[in-house]
Amino acid sequence: MPIHEYECKACGHQFEFLLLPTTTAAPACPECQSQDLDKRLSGFALSTAEITKARVKQARKALAQSKDYKDKQVAEAEHIKEHVAEYMPPRD
Ligand SMILES: [Zn+2]
Repeated sequence: MPIHEYECKACGHQFEFLLLPTTTAAPACPECQSQDLDKRLSGFALSTAEITKARVKQARKALAQSKDYKDKQVAEAEHIKEHVAEYMPPRD
C-alpha cells in the first residue's frame, strides 16, 4: 500500500497520504485544505513485504553474478562461527 508523504506549501504541515487504488481525489492538506503540496520522498513508503521482495530479488541477482558464491557463504559461516565463539562462550 503506497503511502505518500506531503508537505503543504501553504502552511508547512507535513502529512502522509495513503494512496488507495480507489482514490481519485487529489491529496489536500488536512490543516488548511490546500492542494499546493510538495511530495516528499519517504524511506518508509514501502511495506516490509515489498522491501523483502526487493532484497530477495537483489540477492538472487548477486547470486547469479557471483561464481564463487558458495565459497563466500562458507567463509562467511566460518567467520560468524568464530565471531560467536569469541563473544558468546558456550554456557553450561
Ligand atoms: Zn496546509
